[in-house]
Amino acid sequence: MTNAPTTSNPSDTAEIAHVDVLIVGAGISGVGGAYHLQSQLPDKSFVVLESQSDFGGTWRTHTYPGIRSDSDLFTFGYRFKPWKGDPIATADKILTYMGEVIDENDLDQHIRYNHSITSASWSTTDKRWTVTATKSDPESGAQESVTHTATFLWMCQGYYRHSEGYSPTWPGMDDFEGDVIHPQTWPADLDYEGKRVVVIGSGATAATIVPAMAGKAEHVTMLQRSPTYFATGRNSNELAEMLRELDVPDEWTHEIVRRKVLHDGALITRMSVEDPEMVKTELATGIKEIMGEDYELDPHFTPSYRPWHQRIAFVPDGDLFHALKDGNASVATDEIDTFVSKGIALKSGETLEADIVVTATGFNLNVLGDIAFDIDDEPMNFADTVTWRGVMFSGVPNMAWVFGYFRASWTLRADLVGDFVCRLLGDMDAGGSACVVPVLPEGEDMPLSSWVDPEDFNPGYIQRGIHLLPRQGNVEPWIHTQNYVEDKEVLPAADLHDGSLHFF
Ligand SMILES: Cc1cc2nc3c(=O)[nH]c(=O)nc-3n(C[C@H](O)[C@H](O)[C@H](O)COP(=O)(O)OP(=O)(O)OC[C@H]3O[C@@H](n4cnc5c(N)ncnc54)[C@H](O)[C@@H]3O)c2cc1C
Repeated sequence: MTNAPTTSNPSDTAEIAHVDVLIVGAGISGVGGAYHLQSQLPDKSFVVLESQSDFGGTWRTHTYPGIRSDSDLFTFGYRFKPWKGDPIATADKILTYMGEVIDENDLDQHIRYNHSITSASWSTTDKRWTVTATKSDPESGAQESVTHTATFLWMCQGYYRHSEGYSPTWPGMDDFEGDVIHPQTWPADLDYEGKRVVVIGSGATAATIVPAMAGKAEHVTMLQRSPTYFATGRNSNELAEMLRELDVPDEWTHEIVRRKVLHDGALITRMSVEDPEMVKTELATGIKEIMGEDYELDPHFTPSYRPWHQRIAFVPDGDLFHALKDGNASVATDEIDTFVSKGIALKSGETLEADIVVTATGFNLNVLGDIAFDIDDEPMNFADTVTWRGVMFSGVPNMAWVFGYFRASWTLRADLVGDFVCRLLGDMDAGGSACVVPVLPEGEDMPLSSWVDPEDFNPGYIQRGIHLLPRQGNVEPWIHTQNYVEDKEVLPAADLHDGSLHFF
């Protein structure tokens, strides 16, 4: 049992005096965290605070045409709930799946929507966090400040600011007579039928929006400064189809297909490092199968970096390339010189006429959900901390963070961190400790490096925000591997009493 004072789990009407665990965010990580906590430590009281009016996080925020996952749902889905659909899923289907997890496990009673956390203060004297949130009434718009206390804080707030995406400003934007729209704040009533659309960007978001708008729009142009690697393939999993045909139980199919997806993913990662030319050829072959053998990949589909340096965008059923082939869409690889009244003038001298410009230019990194943290009244700068296995942070008591994988599905890590937090809390109870804090070894000058190695992974939002992120050392446990294959062995076996975690 916990040493901290507790109340029973909060009901809809009860005031929350104190909970053992406060989970920030009801996205895939927070809902997963709630599930793990409830199933592994049923005696713990907990609450999930979510600023939006419903669960889903990323999958509720994004409503642009075609919005879908770019990784497969066998691994983006939870370990504990079989995925029964096609590998790449729309936001709607992901929300339905998450809703089932909430319903089947009666998690709704623990989730407080419209609660936007603004501050979190740790008191060593009181051995607890005091968390302040702004509670909004979605109907009247009235707001009030509410305070909760919690022994442990489980940060599941994701990694980017949900309220607005990243949109650079270009010269002449004020002169543009059309609409400029960021995919993260897509107007529900946007009518693009018969309109000329330019989508700026070439990542997974652009690759989704372009085919989804093509056909209905007059024409869609994907304007990219530099190309991206795309993998094409059927949106189906042959192994899953076979196992389903054999009437293998869903739980088995889920687990077997997860293993196969992970096996194949590890192989592609290894080949990208060992033989990038071979991987490039494979990716090019997929594109040419749709566009035709003579299709010239240069300049639109020949990135300068090696495959896997940034996430390879998967194009299910090759829909982007079919839109290009049909002539409903095209690609321009060029730089913006200036916006003009009727479109975008490019550095090459060409002008792209547009009624609508979509800026699929990424996110604003937001490491701690815009929450002001302090520890014993000292403001905490997250960037000054060093991570303990990518989950906890030096000098920050009773706090864990879910930061998933870039190259593998985020949820793989959300599940691993779920197990870890439950093991840690169980260990604290068994040892009679209310607090745990990672403490860097004294007197050792460990070389520190950034949260992720820019040589290894360098998308724009990380480059722009790396200074906001914690650092890592060069030895366990002060490292953040971004490697599921390693983590799945190391994290469950990690020694909680090797001296790097102080319990009190
Ligand atoms: C369009 C898009 C597609 C993606 N596709 C994939 C994919 O296919 N595979 C993959 O692995 N990853 C993908 N990602 C990355 C994706 O964000 C993560 O995989 C995953 O959804 C993150 O889940 P999360 O719960 O950790 O965070 P989020 O989904 O970001 O949810 C965090 C929640 O916390 C809430 N929150 C934040 N701050 C506060 C606060 N101060 N107070 C209260 N609540 C707060 C937010 O409102 C939100 O609901 C995609 C991202 C985007 C934007």
